Amino acid sequence: MNIDSPYLHPEYETLSREEISKLQTERLQETVRRCAKVPFYERKFREMGIKAEDITSPQDVRKLPFTTKQDLRDTYPFGLAAVPLTDCVRLHSSSGTTGNPTVILHTKNDLDEWANQVARNLWMVGLRPDDVFQNSSGYGMFTGGLGFQYGAERMGMLTVPAAAGNSLRQIKFIKDFGTTAIHAVPSYLTRLYEVMQEQGVDPRRDTKLRVFAIGAEPHSEEQRQRIEKMFGVKAYNSFGMSEMCGPGVGFECQEQNGLHFWEDYYIVEIVNPETLEPVPDGEIGELVLTTLRREAMPLIRYRTRDLTRVLGRTCPCGRNHIRLDRMRGRSDDMMVLRGVNIFPIQIEKILMTFPELASNYLITLTTDNDNDNMTVEVELAEMFTDDYARLQSLTKSITRALKDEILLTPIVKLVPKGSLPVSEGKAVRVVDKRKVYQ
Ligand code: ADP
Ligand code: ZN
Repeated sequence: MNIDSPYLHPEYETLSREEISKLQTERLQETVRRCAKVPFYERKFREMGIKAEDITSPQDVRKLPFTTKQDLRDTYPFGLAAVPLTDCVRLHSSSGTTGNPTVILHTKNDLDEWANQVARNLWMVGLRPDDVFQNSSGYGMFTGGLGFQYGAERMGMLTVPAAAGNSLRQIKFIKDFGTTAIHAVPSYLTRLYEVMQEQGVDPRRDTKLRVFAIGAEPHSEEQRQRIEKMFGVKAYNSFGMSEMCGPGVGFECQEQNGLHFWEDYYIVEIVNPETLEPVPDGEIGELVLTTLRREAMPLIRYRTRDLTRVLGRTCPCGRNHIRLDRMRGRSDDMMVLRGVNIFPIQIEKILMTFPELASNYLITLTTDNDNDNMTVEVELAEMFTDDYARLQSLTKSITRALKDEILLTPIVKLVPKGSLPVSEGKAVRVVDKRKVYQ
């Protein structure tokens, strides 16, 4: 493996499983010591009779208590700080659509390590200091902004904080600055491509784009492949969450065979969300993460609610950091319709196989005459709205394919390109109008 960057820590990239295990044990002990200063954890440790010395292997993490998003809300704003507030230099906060928002604190070291983590990922996917990196994600509280900004700068790339939206300006930057890499949510990139088409810009001919980092929202393999084909660019899946720092927690390598989660920074567990017991490798469960390096707000066994599975612990790229499957969504993204569990990504996967369709879609759940229904609106790639017979047969094929996947028959509506709402941040894929009547 070619790892010769002075910005990274090559010795951590290629750790053997044994070395990872040893490092995790030491770092987990440190985390437990740090958490013992937080009243929330101190009380739990006392009740459970746990001390740092009881940790003799990474598996001992199972002796420790879980932490939930509700715990973050209950201790809002600074209740989980493990250092005095004067040692903190940054605060990020989630939207808080329900109840208190959550707050994540960072020390100077936390930010430093976070930047290293992101730089490491960008290096892994083949970016180098002479690349031009355009960060087309929201800035502000959304960690995808500053997280990628500092990581890309740390690696030494010319970094363009373009932020989200304003596609015409994005395209101008891409062309004028010779942008080679973009970070954005996948739903935005498909929109950007449409605007390029409208403007007569051919990304292959008119730009130097070669790498995308896409993430922050669930997306299907089919969606990724579509993006890669549209632009002629490799798109790498990037997983992050504010509670763990932000982007950089997991990233695909050039093999594109799952997300490497960095085990020198986190302990990864996949548990059954009901029993909270570990599930075997390959089985879907809830991702649970324990921070190993964070100072300001270390978190133990944080229940992410993201559903995924372990794909392996080795990789042809030479890294032995655990590989996880792409997230199929959060447990709270799951729709239950007439007793059937459905994830938006299942619908997306099917829609993306139809070349006649564009990439934007919206799922609406309604109650009509006491029956729950699902309507899937999806944009057409080109206009042929006057060809009624063609529209009808396409609608039929899509409905059938969706039924085979989700075992229910949705109402499919084909709509003109550009007619569905596009959000600047994470895409809103589901509108549940049933809740109004509950
Ligand atoms: P919020 O909780 O307000 O959405 P975050 O930016 O912290 O703010 O979101 C983290 C969540 O975003 C993750 O828990 C996961 O559900 C989702 N997410 C992030 N990256 C990916 C990805 N690559 N694939 C699927 N989901 C992702
Ligand atoms: Zn790899």
